Amino acid sequence: ETAATDFDFESYITDIPDYPEPGVVFKDITPLFADANAMRQAITALADHFRGRGVTKVIGPEARGFMVGVPVALELGAGFIPARKPGKLPRETVSISYELEYGTDTLEIHADALEPGDRVLIIDDLVATGGTVAATGKLVQNMGAELIGYGCILELAFLNPRDALAASGDQELFSLV
Ligand code: AMP
Repeated sequence: ETAATDFDFESYITDIPDYPEPGVVFKDITPLFADANAMRQAITALADHFRGRGVTKVIGPEARGFMVGVPVALELGAGFIPARKPGKLPRETVSISYELEYGTDTLEIHADALEPGDRVLIIDDLVATGGTVAATGKLVQNMGAELIGYGCILELAFLNPRDALAASGDQELFSLV
C-alpha cells in the first residue's frame, strides 16, 4: 500500500547514477528534507498511516532512519530507539547480523530499550532489498516486543523487499513512493 496523499514526494528525491559504486542509482532524499513543506508532508503521511495502532516505540536504523524515525515518533506520541552499527551504543546491547550482497552487516540496540508490551514501528528512509528493516524486525521479535509494521519514504519495489519481509511475518510495509 502507498500513501493516501497525492503530494508529489518523488519530485523531491534526486537520482544519483553510479553512486556509491558503478551500476547503483543512489536515491538522495536530502532535497525532501531541505524543503520544510515536503518534509512535513512526508512525516505526517507516515505518522497518519500508523496512527491509532498503539505504537509505543519507533526504531530507526542508522543514520537516515534517525532523520525520518524521530519526527514520526514525536507525531505518534511514541518513544524513539536508534538501531546502530556495532560499537556505537554505550551500554549492553542486543544485536542481529544479516546478509548483504557481499558479506554481512550488524545492527545493535540497547538491551533494555524494549519491553515485552511494546508495540514497535520500524522506520527508514529507503527500503531496497529489505534486509535492513527485516533484520531490525527480527530483533524486535527476538526481544519479545510486538512488531506493528514498517514504514519508509521510498521503496525500491524492483528489489522485491516484500519477499524478504514476508519471511519474518505478515507485518505491513507502507511506503510513500
Ligand atoms: P536494504 O537493506 O537493501 O533494504 O537497504 C536499505 C538501506 O540502505 C537503507 O538504510 C538505505 O538508506 C540504504 N540504501 C540502499 N539502497 C539505496 C539507494 N539506491 N539509494 C539510497 N540509499 C540506499
